[in-house]
Amino acid sequence: MSATVQANCSDLQAHIAALALGDLEPSEELLEHLAKCPPCRTALCAYVRCARMKHKRGYTAPSPALRERILAACSETTPQTEQSS
Ligand SMILES: [Zn+2]
Repeated sequence: MSATVQANCSDLQAHIAALALGDLEPSEELLEHLAKCPPCRTALCAYVRCARMKHKRGYTAPSPALRERILAACSETTPQTEQSS
């Protein structure tokens, strides 16, 4: 069976949001999906931005390693056309 990656996207949104907020340990499956799916990486980046705002006071990141992976995923996917601000 050759399931399309995009088929899981809507199911993964909650996981992606939770991951960005530090409420979820990323599964290899999720990280793999993020690696293959630009729309989900874009969503993750948006959630991370929200999480950063949320945590501006009393920052409570889950772990440096996890943040590293999230931010790495973000920098890989940041569209070069979106360089406002
Ligand atoms: Zn996706």
